[in-house]
Amino acid sequence: MSRRPIRSSETQIIFSPESPRYDRTCWVCLASDKDDDAGPVLKDWVRPCRCRGTTKWVHQACLQRWIDEKQAGNAAAPVLCSQCRTQYRIVCPKLGPLFECFEEYEKIIDAFSPLATAFLVLGGVGWCANRFGMLSLTQTLGSDATAALLENRDPVLIHVTVPLIPFVLAGSRFIDWHTYGLRLYWWSQSQLKRFVLGDDGCERNEAEANSTSRMREPAELKSSSDAATITRRVMGGLLLPTCAAVCGQLLFDGLIEEQWKKSLLGGFVYVLGKGIVKMMYRHQQYVRQASRTILSWDES
Ligand SMILES: [Zn+2]
Ligand SMILES: [Zn+2]
Repeated sequence: MSRRPIRSSETQIIFSPESPRYDRTCWVCLASDKDDDAGPVLKDWVRPCRCRGTTKWVHQACLQRWIDEKQAGNAAAPVLCSQCRTQYRIVCPKLGPLFECFEEYEKIIDAFSPLATAFLVLGGVGWCANRFGMLSLTQTLGSDATAALLENRDPVLIHVTVPLIPFVLAGSRFIDWHTYGLRLYWWSQSQLKRFVLGDDGCERNEAEANSTSRMREPAELKSSSDAATITRRVMGGLLLPTCAAVCGQLLFDGLIEEQWKKSLLGGFVYVLGKGIVKMMYRHQQYVRQASRTILSWDES
């Protein structure tokens, strides 16, 4: 077996028909030089990487097959030796000038395509956001007030503030103020109880002590973050101007003249009302969880 140190300049796929007939073993097919039944294809040996010892040699044909498998159809993909991580130096015959130009053209297109796609997608998203922002403004302020607002043609307003509207609306639904409201409610309840019953609660009567000892502290219910919940929140945020306008129209029509005041109050009532219902619901969930029991098998 050859013990010569291998320099990096030698690390390429080289045909070596006249390599000395040492005890070479192909690490792919495990055939060795001594196997006389090897066909002419398996006479081409190559030492393609920095590996030494038994994994140094491989048949050119075996390695080609192995590289095909690794590249999985992408002929430009680099392939490394799985042992020493040397990148195989794969050379193909030169292309003609026409196809070389075509290859360069493809490379340029490949380089620009992600940029162009990002540009188009961002442009499309921006356009949609702008249209949505305009729609929200018209819904809540009324068409006259929106027209008056846009009349001064302030570029910051038109190109930054209006397209941001849908994102702010969708993001606003991810502020979980119900949880803080509910915690405040629980805290105020416990404070009230302590104030009424005294600091250490020793004045509690027997019945109440029994009832509270049955209540356990349930694990906090987490608001789920699956796709359905996220899209529901985003949709809820985007529909907020519509809900605000409808609520304002239903509740304050005839009482308030200006459209934007109606929408503002309508939105406030909508958000607060829905929030209070949600807080009550979550409080009920908490109470149910706290006083749940697990049935015996034969009891059911
Ligand atoms: Zn082989
Ligand atoms: Zn190697």
